[in-house]
Amino acid sequence: MKGPMLTLGNGVGMPAFGLGVFQSGPVETVEAVRTALANGYRLIDTATRYMNEAQVGQGIRESGVPRDDLVVQTKLWISDYGYDRALRSFDRSMEELGLETLDLYFLHWPVPKRFERTLESWNAAVRLLEEGRVRAIGVCNASPDDIRRLTEASGITPAVNQVELHPYLAQPELRKANREMGVVTQAWSPIGGIKRYLGEAAATGDPLRDPVVVSLAERYGKTPAQIVLRWHIELGNSVIPKSVRAGRIHENGDIFDFSLTRDEVAAIDALDRGERGGPDPAEVTPETFGSGD
Ligand code: NDP
Repeated sequence: MKGPMLTLGNGVGMPAFGLGVFQSGPVETVEAVRTALANGYRLIDTATRYMNEAQVGQGIRESGVPRDDLVVQTKLWISDYGYDRALRSFDRSMEELGLETLDLYFLHWPVPKRFERTLESWNAAVRLLEEGRVRAIGVCNASPDDIRRLTEASGITPAVNQVELHPYLAQPELRKANREMGVVTQAWSPIGGIKRYLGEAAATGDPLRDPVVVSLAERYGKTPAQIVLRWHIELGNSVIPKSVRAGRIHENGDIFDFSLTRDEVAAIDALDRGERGGPDPAEVTPETFGSGD
């Protein structure tokens, strides 16, 4: 698989396309990572919260792919926010992953109502960056204002903002703001996963069943997931679809032998309904996820 490389604000290179492992069970995760790497994936996204960092590390080691060819991302969970707690949590993540250096370390969610905790955690991430323990640091689910506040307070702009993004939540303003600040946009639930695995949300629609997507799939002899993933690539997004099935891992990566026209991209853009599957980041507190703190 050959996909585009993106260059982060600090010059670090990152493949635009990779594998997500949210909700991948331990045994499935080892196999999914091995399968993905055998299929040419070179970017893996996990998180402390997913409880599978050790299996991601195992999959990487068993794949035989040289460490330096990979971009590995993990995330700090909000119950570990705070300067010292964040540093300790990072050490635990690295032990689980079995890695010396991490490529990208994320704050998993801003906590807007207690932003000082988010900032303390960001400052810990900045320290890890300065010490060379991570090659880049980023945020997930951040607003342009969050990014400005973190940048002004620390002098370091997040390299990546990983956000919910699929045809029914295309986030045009957020993508533009990220671009203007030199921040790469990375799409989570890129093929609308959250619209399917949350039962109630599924009733509001699955982008993979949208007639526009389905008809483009027929036109190109591709699957709806491949059309949506190609749309992300045309937009310049980084994208990390999750699957634990070998056939789908291969399918999702098989999107670099065709492209969508400008009109076709616009037709998918027009499906945007501003419809979130996940929580509204402006409202998130530790209690949102039952984390307390
Ligand atoms: P995705 O949009 O990647 O969809 C994954 C779901 O779709 C799974 O149920 C998967 O099932 C199914 N699927 C995968 N490929 C196909 C296909 N080709 N056709 C049909 N169905 C398919 O959703 P995610 O929410 O998992 O997002 C991707 C990644 O983003 C996560 O794994 C995680 O790494 C990250 N993420 C980050 C968040 C954050 O707050 N920062 C929040 C949520 C996710 P199966 O495995 O059975 O194939």
